Amino acid sequence: MVWDVSFTCDICGKAKGEANHWWMAAVGSVPCFEADGIDDLLREQRFTLMRWSRADSQNPDMYHLCGQGCAMQAMERFMTEGSLESR
Ligand SMILES: [Zn+2]
Repeated sequence: MVWDVSFTCDICGKAKGEANHWWMAAVGSVPCFEADGIDDLLREQRFTLMRWSRADSQNPDMYHLCGQGCAMQAMERFMTEGSLESR
């Protein structure tokens, strides 16, 4: 399967081009993290921001962010609503 799909920003809907200043965010547990010693309740309170990685971008739990502005907006959404889903 070809994974070179085009992504869209989960905040503003912009399509990803060749330029790569994109970021990813996740709420709660992240598969690439060791979660030892952190209890489940705490895990849901976590907002994780990371640089774009081609491998992790395919993870359905990741939110795709087109840049700093949308990353800030995602964090703000998490802080006010506890989730990155738009209402
Ligand atoms: Zn965006």
